[in-house]
Amino acid sequence: MTRHYNFCAGPAALPTAVLERAQREMLDYQGRGLSVMEMSHRSSEYVAIAERAEADLRELLAVPDNYRVLFTQGGATQQFAAVPMNLLGRGGRANFIETGIWGNKAIKEARHLFGSAHIAASSAENGHVEAPQQADIALSDDAAYLHVTPNETIGGLALDFVPVARRGDGVEVPLVADLSSTILSEPLDVSRFGVIYAGAQKNIGPAGLVLVIVRDDLLDQAVSEMPSLFSYRQLAEAGSMINTPATYSWYLAGLVFDWLKRDVGGLEAMAEINDRKAAKLYEAIDRSDFYSNPIAVRNRSKMNVPFVLADSALDNAFLEEAEAAGLLNLKGHRSVGGMRASLYNAVPESAVDALVAFMGDFEKRRG
Ligand code: PMP
Repeated sequence: MTRHYNFCAGPAALPTAVLERAQREMLDYQGRGLSVMEMSHRSSEYVAIAERAEADLRELLAVPDNYRVLFTQGGATQQFAAVPMNLLGRGGRANFIETGIWGNKAIKEARHLFGSAHIAASSAENGHVEAPQQADIALSDDAAYLHVTPNETIGGLALDFVPVARRGDGVEVPLVADLSSTILSEPLDVSRFGVIYAGAQKNIGPAGLVLVIVRDDLLDQAVSEMPSLFSYRQLAEAGSMINTPATYSWYLAGLVFDWLKRDVGGLEAMAEINDRKAAKLYEAIDRSDFYSNPIAVRNRSKMNVPFVLADSALDNAFLEEAEAAGLLNLKGHRSVGGMRASLYNAVPESAVDALVAFMGDFEKRRG
């Protein structure tokens, strides 16, 4: 059996130790004689799995008691609609910091549902290579919340601060963050946010599951015509089991949380490894004229590193040879081209070492 190095942006690499444990538990979960996939979500065995996953996540992120954790579905994309539907019931407008493609999709959805959205700050004028700073943020007078995408997965642009969302009248409104591509990659001060959401298929587990962490006071600000599966209040009251949840993805997420706690040693230890991985790859890009990354240094993403070759005619050769060397999924997003290496938690440092060595060798031969 060979497991190649997988730099996919999502669904992304999972820790081998987690997959091995899932494999061991696949046919006969802890002597129960059935697979987790075959369990009722209402059974005591499954409820214990679900509760342990939530407890471990709360411990890893130090989630304060006045926040609910929801394990829901529909992808992060469903949250582009669910957030305004849950937060705009008392009027006001969704405000956004626009830093790239994913945030733009959230803006479009809020506009589609509520007629307007206010761009409080944007990096559009510089082509999303340098993010706004706190002083650039201008909320509308009717801002109900500020939505940010702290890490734009396609552009590789990361905010280097947690914004304070204060209106002109001095009122601070909730900060909402799409943390799909950075959650669990480093410690996080959850108390700075009103709502956090993240699709699972990068740092959490398999696709099909979305985590939402929502502050209690935001459970009752929804529009009145709310589909129950979109309602944070109803999801919270049902323990995320209004209907059948993504049981296996939730179980696997629990194994990933357990791995982060026990094998890695928590999010500070994880962040140190992630810092080293990103530094090695950016150093390799910066010391060469053959590879380049366009993002302002302070905004470089540690999770998604896009880069281009000086001669794009060599792109296909680079990808084919990388794949032959066991380095998978380095092709950039179809909308931007070039290359992108995603360095999520489950991508080991040895993968970055192998990529850097391959890049040096390719440049020597073809550059
Ligand atoms: N937001 C961000 C930052 C993402 O990276 C992605 C997926 N790559 C999404 C939203 C959309 O996620 P999903 O496919 O789970 O809807």
